[in-house]
Amino acid sequence: MKIGIFGGTFDPIHIGHLRVAGEFAAAFGLEKVLMMVAATPPHRDTPIASPEDRLQMVKLAVQDYSLLEASDIELIRKGPSFTLDTVKEVREIAEGALIWMALGGDAFALIRSWHRPEDVLAQVHLVVLTRPGSPVGLMATLPEGISRRYTLSGEIYVHDSGATLRALPVSPLDVSSSMIRKAVSEGDSIRDLVTVEVLQYILQKGLYRPETT
Ligand code: ATP
Repeated sequence: MKIGIFGGTFDPIHIGHLRVAGEFAAAFGLEKVLMMVAATPPHRDTPIASPEDRLQMVKLAVQDYSLLEASDIELIRKGPSFTLDTVKEVREIAEGALIWMALGGDAFALIRSWHRPEDVLAQVHLVVLTRPGSPVGLMATLPEGISRRYTLSGEIYVHDSGATLRALPVSPLDVSSSMIRKAVSEGDSIRDLVTVEVLQYILQKGLYRPETT
């Protein structure tokens, strides 16, 4: 099965995430994209909403998208969450096939600080999401010991293992989770930024309001 992973804090999930995950699935003919809810993301602040609320919002957001599925794999794992562990678990679902993983350019830039980056790169087709017209220096970002193992084929870098690395320009929407949290805390409308079900959930649970955070 051709499976993709689209990871995020999803605090909360918004229409930008849904659009880009859909473009990722379409670009590679993926049969399923797991919207992987991050537990305690390294390199960033603790999420405001609880893991349960973030997962529930992702479930609500994807209900009308047949290719997208909420995943709690990283939430139910004990201890620190390494991408490599996630990749191994998802490969089992994919019956051993290489899986596809989308990553924002900001996250890819931190790859040197990952746990065993080379093992991750050898096991996934990695797709770095870029803004049109803002190319990312894929090879320059990798440690030299790793970049040496790639050959360029057209616009795709192929690792010794057969796994690939490439950029995918996507159409970003002017929305972010922080923008939404700020709007809610100031009492502004977020109606066009999240799905109706996510909006109702945020309001019902009182998420992101100053008195609840
Ligand atoms: P925050 O504002 O809290 O930093 P975020 O909106 O960037 O959050 P994340 O959950 O951190 O949301 O994002 C998960 C992934 O989605 C990242 O790879 C990020 O680059 C991508 N992403 C986030 N917002 C957009 C958007 N508007 N368009 C395209 N991709 C996006």
